Amino acid sequence: MPELPEVETVVRILRTKILGEQILDVKVYLNKFIKGNIDIPEFRKDIVGRTIAGIERIGKNIIFELQDKVLISHLRMTGKWFVFNKANFFESPHHLAVFTLSHDKILAFHDVRKFGTFHYQDQETYKTIDPINKVALEPLDSKVNGEYLQAKMQKSARHIKTLLLDQTLVAGIGNIYADEILFASKINPLKLGNQLDLSEYTQIAQNATLILKKAIEYGGTTINSYQSEQGVDGRFQRELQVHTRAGQNCYLCGSKIVKIKVNGRGTYYCPKCQF
Ligand SMILES: [Zn+2]
Repeated sequence: MPELPEVETVVRILRTKILGEQILDVKVYLNKFIKGNIDIPEFRKDIVGRTIAGIERIGKNIIFELQDKVLISHLRMTGKWFVFNKANFFESPHHLAVFTLSHDKILAFHDVRKFGTFHYQDQETYKTIDPINKVALEPLDSKVNGEYLQAKMQKSARHIKTLLLDQTLVAGIGNIYADEILFASKINPLKLGNQLDLSEYTQIAQNATLILKKAIEYGGTTINSYQSEQGVDGRFQRELQVHTRAGQNCYLCGSKIVKIKVNGRGTYYCPKCQF
């Protein structure tokens, strides 16, 4: 599943390829793929002729700015955006929406498991309504520091790993990065929110920023079938310190990295460094 750095990578690639292009046509192949009270013919009628004026990211949502409208795309499990030139475009049963753009470009939303979503909303109000109004601040936001995390998490008797994954508390930390952040902070993933002090929350906030920034710089992490874009693999997987390293030696102390389940999620940590 793409996480914040992968979605940011997709946004940056899309900006270089389709910013300023006009939407000449669109085909949507899956009913109910566009959320809210809009059917496919209505959507098509409204969006055709619009120009892609901006592409932004809020949490893991990709926001296509189309003058007074926005198209909000969430990739969920397996969604991907592909940009083709007309000459190399290929049809696929996994394309859920195909946009014909100016300059012979084609933009396709490809999703094998079909959990991805579109919301088509007004630019003026979309930040105040579902799904964007539910997105919490993310670690890259300067307001998210140790005090902020402590205020959100210190009363909880849930595991810190689970709290970091709770998108209503802080947005954009997924399973891979939660493991990496806790390793860098030397905190055991099974510790409870109410067992951590301010200095530990500050460590988490600082490491979350560092790790997410570095992951964005490296184009995200490619694990399983995820590719941020055709032909572009994230390079952060080579930087992983604990995630996926079960049974291998810890880079810091040489102990064996352990894999456990925390709230159903595969979790990797060093029992010696993280206590
Ligand atoms: Zn260690």
